[in-house]
Order: sequence, then structure tokens, then C-alpha cells
Amino acid sequence: MSKYWSKLAARLEPYVPGEQLKDKKYIKLNTNENPYPPSPKALEAIKAAADSSLKLYPDPVASDLKSTLAKNYGLKSSQVFVGNGSDEVIAFSFMAFFNTDEEVLFPDVTYSFYPVYANIFNIDYRLVTLQKDFSVPVEEFFNAQGGVIIPNPNAPTARAISSKDIERILVNNREKVVIIDEAYVDFGAESVVGLIEQYDNLLVVQTLSKSRSLAGLRVGWAFGQEHLIEGLTRVKDSINSYTLDRLALIGAAAAVEDEEYFEETRKRIMDTRERITVNLQNLGFNIIPSKANFIFMSHENVPAEHIFKRLKEEGVLVRYFKKPGIDNYLRVSIGTDIEMDTMIEKLVEII
Ligand code: PMP
Repeated sequence: MSKYWSKLAARLEPYVPGEQLKDKKYIKLNTNENPYPPSPKALEAIKAAADSSLKLYPDPVASDLKSTLAKNYGLKSSQVFVGNGSDEVIAFSFMAFFNTDEEVLFPDVTYSFYPVYANIFNIDYRLVTLQKDFSVPVEEFFNAQGGVIIPNPNAPTARAISSKDIERILVNNREKVVIIDEAYVDFGAESVVGLIEQYDNLLVVQTLSKSRSLAGLRVGWAFGQEHLIEGLTRVKDSINSYTLDRLALIGAAAAVEDEEYFEETRKRIMDTRERITVNLQNLGFNIIPSKANFIFMSHENVPAEHIFKRLKEEGVLVRYFKKPGIDNYLRVSIGTDIEMDTMIEKLVEII
């Protein structure tokens, strides 16, 4: 606390990202990064773009990247918004579509950045309690006062919602924006990008950070009808016209174009997830069915916090949330086969 902080800065409760420890070499399964490197074509494009043109500002409307995304997803450029990671896109969405005295709904177990954004922008929200098995009670999201935001698959539970159920939420919130955060959708869930033409209240948010191995480049986007994209652009242009730098714009477009690499690496992660799920079940873990690049699990006898600490001592970082309802669970990102096998070996010792 400092006497110089504004009232706003003083009342914030910032989001705490997963640890990025440097004290030794860890097997890093705690922040849902992709274990495989980015597309070689994206890396080449970034290297080639690192030249004297960096003295110039980047394209403030990101027209090349938007048209690449539009082409890839069968949309118009005017239906695409890009930002500095999907975190920024979500922050702008809270500002663009939600209001102070109208409750926005999101699950009680979900991405913990949502309440942080609601807090900084003074937006009321209500947490909807998930069912015992962490599935989303769809009807509870009908007729939201202020709007809805749900990740699909949800984080940190990894459970997916069917597009039929999302459509029911859209139909029952005709007057409010429904944001579907598809950060992890490429690992087996159904995307609702195809519903954009039909629903003027649907905003779909995606990212390069997970399925395209580019968490370090900070690129995310939103798809929606033109009027929603315009709302986001109004917010962006009132804060920072150049949210994406030249290298990010070029690298992102090359990564999106490298369809083959994307298909290969996401399949590898899904295969590893399925194999490792069986191994973990054999060790006595209860695994929530996952459509993400991570799994959410608890052990029948050994407390999650103990396993978390012991794994860390053994050089394996996973994520533990000391929060009511999920404090006996661990969230484990899917690494390479070798990394996951090492984790299993450590778990056999610990358990
Ligand atoms: N949404 C969800 C559900 C996430 O878990 C994350 C990653 N922490 C993000 C959005 C943000 O990802 P990024 O800003 O890297 O695009």
C-alpha cells in the first residue's frame, strides 16, 4: 500500500498467474503452455520481420492478420478483432459489453481472471454454482441481467459444454452478450464460431497461446458480428491503438496459416492426454473428462496439496488452487510423452 495509489489501484485484487520459477529446471505443467515449439514457419516469419521496419509503428487495424484469420475461419475481416493475448481481448470485452449495475454470470469454478476484470471495471457479477461433477447447469445462465462469460472447455475443470447447450444459452439471452472463451477449444471441444451469423449476441474468443504454442507472442482474437467488433475497437482505440507489435502480427498470421503443424501438434497432445488419463486412473486418481490441454484430478487417498508440494520438490510443477470446492484437485498441463511419463514415475513414489 502506498499513499500515492489511486483509490482504484488500492482496491484491486490482481490475478496471480502460475509460477514461472527460475531456481532450477522444472518439468513445467502448471500454466497450460504447449510443450511443442511454435510452427517453424511462424518462427521464420518473425525472424525475417526483425528488421529496420521496426522503427515504424505497426498497422493499428491489423488488416493482414484479420484477413488471414477471417479466411481460415470462414468469416469476414469485419467480424474479427485481435488483441495482445486473449486476456486483453476479454478485458476489452468486459468494458465494451457489460455494465456496472447489471449482473454478469459466470461459473463459480472458472478462469479466475473474470472476477478480476469485473472488479477493476466495477461490473456486478454472480457466480453460478457448477454441478457436483463440475458440469455447467445450462438453465442457470438463462436471462442474465448483464451478460454471460463461460470458457469452453471450462478452466480449470477441462470439462466441455456442447454447442447445443451454448445455443440454448444464446437463445435465452437475446438482449445480452454471451462470451464463449475458447482458449482450449482446439483440444477436442466443439467451437461455436459457426453460430456467429445466426446470433448477434455471440462473441467467441480464442488465442494463439495454447493450440499454436505461442503463449510468448501474446496474440488473441474475438469473432463476432460487426457491431460487436466495432464496440471492441472503440475500447481499444481509447486505450492503445497499437496493441500488437509488428513481429506479433507477422508471426500470428504465419502460425494460423500453418494448418498442418497445428493439426499434428494438437493431435499429439490429445493422444498423450488419453494415454496418461488411463495411467493416472490406475494410480487411484479421479480425472474429470478433459477436452483441454490439461487435466483436473484428485486422488482417492492422498491430499492434492501434499502431491503438489512433493511434485515440486521432485522438479515437476503443476497447479494447485487453495480454493473451497477445488482444494483437493490438481490441474496438470499435458506435456510431452517423456515429461508425462516422468511425472507418473514421481507420482508412483509419492503415492
Ligand atoms: N482464457 C482462459 C480460460 C485461459 O485459461 C487463459 C490462459 N491463462 C486465457 C483466456 C488467456 O490466454 P492468453 O492471454 O494467453 O491468450
